[in-house]
Amino acid sequence: MELSSLYHKAGSNYAYAYSNKMLHIKLQTKVNDVQAVMLVFGDPYDYREQKEAGEESGWNWFVQNRRMEHIGTDGLHDYWLIEVEPYRRRLRYAFYLESEGLHYLYGERKTYQVTGTTDPRLSDQKNFFAFPYINSVDVYSAPDWVKDTIWYQIFPERFANGDMTNDPKDTKNWNDPLSSSRDHYGGDLQGVIEQLDYLEELGVNGIYFTPIFHSHSNHKYDTIDYLKVDPHFGDKEKLKELVKKAHDRGIRVMLDIVFNHCGFFFAQFQDVLEHGEASAYKDWFHIHEFPVYDKANELRSSKELHFDTFAFTPSMPKLNTENPQMKEYLLNIIRYWSDEAAIDGWRLDVANEVDHQFWREFRKVAKERNPEVYIVGEVWHDANPWLGGDQFDAVMNYPLNDAVLGFFAKQELNCEEFAQEVSHANFQYPKHVNDHMYNLIDSHDTPRFLHQAGENKELLKLAYVFMMTHTGSPSIYYGNEVGMTGGQDPDCRRPMRWNTEDQDIELMAFMKQLIRIRKDHDVLRDRGEFRFHKSEHSDILVYQRSTEKEVYLILINRSNQSHRIRLPEEIHNRSFLDLWRNEQITTEDHMELKPYGFILLKNM
Ligand code: CA
Repeated sequence: MELSSLYHKAGSNYAYAYSNKMLHIKLQTKVNDVQAVMLVFGDPYDYREQKEAGEESGWNWFVQNRRMEHIGTDGLHDYWLIEVEPYRRRLRYAFYLESEGLHYLYGERKTYQVTGTTDPRLSDQKNFFAFPYINSVDVYSAPDWVKDTIWYQIFPERFANGDMTNDPKDTKNWNDPLSSSRDHYGGDLQGVIEQLDYLEELGVNGIYFTPIFHSHSNHKYDTIDYLKVDPHFGDKEKLKELVKKAHDRGIRVMLDIVFNHCGFFFAQFQDVLEHGEASAYKDWFHIHEFPVYDKANELRSSKELHFDTFAFTPSMPKLNTENPQMKEYLLNIIRYWSDEAAIDGWRLDVANEVDHQFWREFRKVAKERNPEVYIVGEVWHDANPWLGGDQFDAVMNYPLNDAVLGFFAKQELNCEEFAQEVSHANFQYPKHVNDHMYNLIDSHDTPRFLHQAGENKELLKLAYVFMMTHTGSPSIYYGNEVGMTGGQDPDCRRPMRWNTEDQDIELMAFMKQLIRIRKDHDVLRDRGEFRFHKSEHSDILVYQRSTEKEVYLILINRSNQSHRIRLPEEIHNRSFLDLWRNEQITTEDHMELKPYGFILLKNM
């Protein structure tokens, strides 16, 4: 056995409280190297008297062992998981592994070969990992409604123009092509209100808005005033009306908030420009040198700026979230909008560059105002440092997004590689985090899926079949449901197609049916375990969602050829309901998949 591939870390995403009573313990081993793993565990204080015949009685630490489940592989490693309920919320544990007939103990301090389960070193507590106590206040918890939510992401400037009177003066005709990243099309909140029927009919029940607060840009990631809805979008009353009308339809509203940086014209930054070191706000930013901004030198390289910014963008000065006054100012913004407009979620822009301490306080304030609020960080890489339960509920799941693009859109991955990449993305987080993850196939920050899939709508459909049957909370970037396309921004931010002749009605009907199926089957949403099956064809994905009683089997053919494939052994000759065609079938040992075909089966 490759001992150096063994990995477990106490107090991390490898050992976490799944609930106030239950622990999840995860282990990594070299792929195909270990045949079985048992968790050896006990309460640290549980010593019991034991009498052997003919010997004096003694007190021994009481340990048990239980088999861990092999949950998958990412190609390099196998992963094992066990759910264990400690007797008094305390646990010491180690791993007992079997490889090629030999047995090993993997402990916190030492790892060695052992003779079997009766080897005395299997109760040497010093060498056991510790989960000292499940304190409920430390346990990750996120709002349940998220798992039942299908998001619709709206870039407000481009979704619908419901009020011509608030249009920017250079507003283009809605159907004119984009000409630059500075275009305005006049989209606004009234437009969204008027399209709530459309969204309800589509079946989505959450809207994620990119920023709506006052800013000169069309994307509004350079906020000037966080307490004011951008006048081109509407006002506070319009936002309240929108949220209320959305709530009346069971649709929740998540806003984007940009606390990493502000806009150049943010009043407090302008004050620093004007008064330099004398400004009361000089410590609200990261200023290296005064004067901060020299008009005569305006065109010098942005890398020589006298203040920190988002990337090297002079129009986005970075906020000093460590400064107590700045921090309080930002937290008050959350209090204000939580109270005024009953916001259901916050999506945090460039969340990974803001200090953790700020986010801990942010969470406290946001959850105090609304215990059911959902907090999603924009983190494109391993986000474990934010997902321990003290900061975010989830992040935008770009690793999953990349895998979906690689398999369905670009076809760079075969199904085994796809399964490995998805497994890697999923196994890096605790299960409850995955259950609340914000999952996407594209966004305002990426080319649209369709563009990346060579405009092949069949592949778009299959990608959504996967997203809607995967764990977490899936989202639809506005217009994907009617066949909108576009490259990197601004191209992916084209105005929504409202002319019915420009909309792909068949695709829309497909999306509605898919959303309906997800909503009707809670195993597909949040109750079923997700598991890949081995597939015998590199274009065909086979996986299942299941509980003890229910099994949903999903097969997806991403190729333009039909394929006849052998089904997993355990589902031969069984009765299933074909959810898409709504008919009962009995499986044989093989099944035919049409070009770009898929099959959604539920056991009878
Ligand atoms: Ca307008």
